[in-house]
Amino acid sequence: PEETLVLVKPDGVQRNLVGEIIARIERKGYTIVDLKMVTATRGMLEKHYEEHEGKPFFEPLVEFMGSGPVVAIRLGGDRVIEGFRALAGKTDPTVAAPGTIRGDLGRDWGAGVQKNLVHGSDSTLSAERELAIWFG
Ligand code: ATP
Repeated sequence: PEETLVLVKPDGVQRNLVGEIIARIERKGYTIVDLKMVTATRGMLEKHYEEHEGKPFFEPLVEFMGSGPVVAIRLGGDRVIEGFRALAGKTDPTVAAPGTIRGDLGRDWGAGVQKNLVHGSDSTLSAERELAIWFG
C-alpha cells in the first residue's frame, strides 16, 4: 500500500500532543509501519524543505524544526497521502477546520503558521524523497 511521512513537529512534542495525534491517525485506520523520535540535523531539514529555500520563512522554519525532537512516522494505507493531509487540515491552524488535527489542537502562537503541529508529504514523489531523508 501507499506510504507517507508524517512528522509531529517540535510544538506537538513540547505540548504533549503526540499521543492525541497518533490516536487520531490510528482511529482513522492507517498503519504505523515505523516510528521514531529524532532531533533533526540542519542537513536533514535543508533537504526536507528544499522547495522553500530562499523564501523568507525558510531560515526560521529550519531553526524551529531543529529546536527539539520530532516524532517521525512511516504511515501506510491506501490513499494515505491524501487522507493524512485531510486529517491534518489547512496549513494555517487559525483557520484549519474544526475536526482536523490543526483545527482542533493548533492556533497562532506569534509566528503565523509555523507552529502547526504536523507535517505530511504532499505527493508520492515527496513521500519517497522524505521517507529516504528520515528513515534512510
Ligand atoms: P507541511 O508540508 O508541513 O504539511 P503544508 O504543505 O501545509 O505543510 P507548506 O506550504 O509546504 O505547508 O509549508 C511547509 C511548512 O512551512 C508549513 O507547515 C509551515 O510550518 C511553514 N510555513 C509555510 N508558510 C509559512 C509562512 N508564510 N510563514 C511561516 N511558516 C510557514
